[in-house]
Amino acid sequence: MPGRPKRSEPGRLSRSESRKASRAAPRKGSPSVPGKASIPRGPAVSEAPAARRRRAARIIAELQELYPDATCALVHRNAFELLVATILSAQSTDVTVNKVTPVLFDRYPDPESLAAASPGDIEKIVYPTGFFRQKTRSIIGAARAIVEEFGGRVPGTVAELTRLPGVARKTANVVVGTWFGRNEGVIVDTHVGRLARRLALSPSSRNEKDALRIEQDLMEVLPQDQWTFTAHALVWHGRKVCSARKPDCPQCRLQKLCPSAFTFD
Ligand code: SF4
Repeated sequence: MPGRPKRSEPGRLSRSESRKASRAAPRKGSPSVPGKASIPRGPAVSEAPAARRRRAARIIAELQELYPDATCALVHRNAFELLVATILSAQSTDVTVNKVTPVLFDRYPDPESLAAASPGDIEKIVYPTGFFRQKTRSIIGAARAIVEEFGGRVPGTVAELTRLPGVARKTANVVVGTWFGRNEGVIVDTHVGRLARRLALSPSSRNEKDALRIEQDLMEVLPQDQWTFTAHALVWHGRKVCSARKPDCPQCRLQKLCPSAFTFD
């Protein structure tokens, strides 16, 4: 953006921006974010819905600038591969899944071959991703249902996808939003749950694991055409800046829009 100071890394402030922010940072317990007195502090805020939507629009604008190409980090070539990779990514990392899936898809490239696979063979391949027995049951079961109920084609709606074994809303939203390009829901994984709470975009959720309420709140506060992008961008921001244990508020480009900024020890 013209006139904006140079930044060292996406999602982080430059050294001079960071120095300014640290000087302006509130002391613990102070009532508001500097320069943003209208935004209440702490995740459990009572902000008017219209004000929350305006703040969300500004957050999206920052995310678009920070992560313009944000998308799913799971390597895939089609809807089937994305579906299987997303099931395998539960309680695992994208890096681990991306190491496993080339071997898996080399031997089982489509729903038909995976549906007929021996569970023992699949377990050996997906073992590094954890919960390998349960994941094996899920991906073979999903492949069989795709063959038997959908003629071998991965269905393109959340309602149909959530009928498959091992496929909940998060996985369905990943496939529908990322592959089919339709915003039917908001992907809520561990990063999105945490960021939605810290950014006070989910007033009805009880905690960051309350995925259904978080999704509902995000669907109300975000424009529908931004649902998938925002989720992917929040995942990137959660990984790069706002980590679970050590959020880097002094370096964060969202700090002036975040009621939780500088509230961590
Ligand atoms: S790093 Fe800090 S300021 Fe940035 S989103 Fe996370 S809690 Fe908010």
